[in-house]
Amino acid sequence: MKLVKLLANLGYGSRKQVAQLLRAGRITDAAGAVLSADARVAHADIRLDGAPLDPPQGLVLLLHKPVGYTCSTRDPGRLVYDLLPPRFRRRSPLLSPVGRLDRDTSGALLLTDDGALLHRIVSPRARLAKVYEATLAQDLRGDEAGIFASGTLLLASEATPLAPAVLQAVDPRRARLTLTEGRYHQVRRMFAAVGNHVVALHRSRIGGLALGELAPGAWRPLDAADLQALF
Ligand code: URA
Repeated sequence: MKLVKLLANLGYGSRKQVAQLLRAGRITDAAGAVLSADARVAHADIRLDGAPLDPPQGLVLLLHKPVGYTCSTRDPGRLVYDLLPPRFRRRSPLLSPVGRLDRDTSGALLLTDDGALLHRIVSPRARLAKVYEATLAQDLRGDEAGIFASGTLLLASEATPLAPAVLQAVDPRRARLTLTEGRYHQVRRMFAAVGNHVVALHRSRIGGLALGELAPGAWRPLDAADLQALF
């Protein structure tokens, strides 16, 4: 693929802007030699301002989504894409959120351009654990863990009961809930079903991958070891 098209597909700019980067000598090979528009160089050996390029496919990001951002691509409010460098919004194929978080939920959000990986993570058959920290309006009653673990809880307007979920009480108004599926507003609706109300919600872990030290609004690309930890 021609350099201009390759970099434009990765979102580094329009074809015109990428041509300007080439003319400015900002695109080099790994040894620092300036590349011309018709150079034939392997993707792995191309540098922009000395930095390697994003992978053309199979990019996976872990974002610490703050409260107040939506996972949509077109919403009048603040979008999770606003937290990422502009190239991630322009690249083709686009990065999609893997299992959305509500605007009022914070925590671990994966984004990827890898459709197969996305389905592998969200598929109920994968039974990948997602861990949520919920702050509640009222004290836990004590029977919630049993109800959530039963595999018989039916949410309003749903035809199939929820898969068993694990609830650990952290204190009377805080609970850690581990789910293996991702239905619409699931955590909030589960607590509503037992007469409570979620006042704050945070996803701390997806599979074996924890947010760790990632600050709210910060992101990092996942490497092979992260992906292995995930499943
Ligand atoms: N459950 C919810 O209610 N909201 C989320 O954002 C995620 C899970």
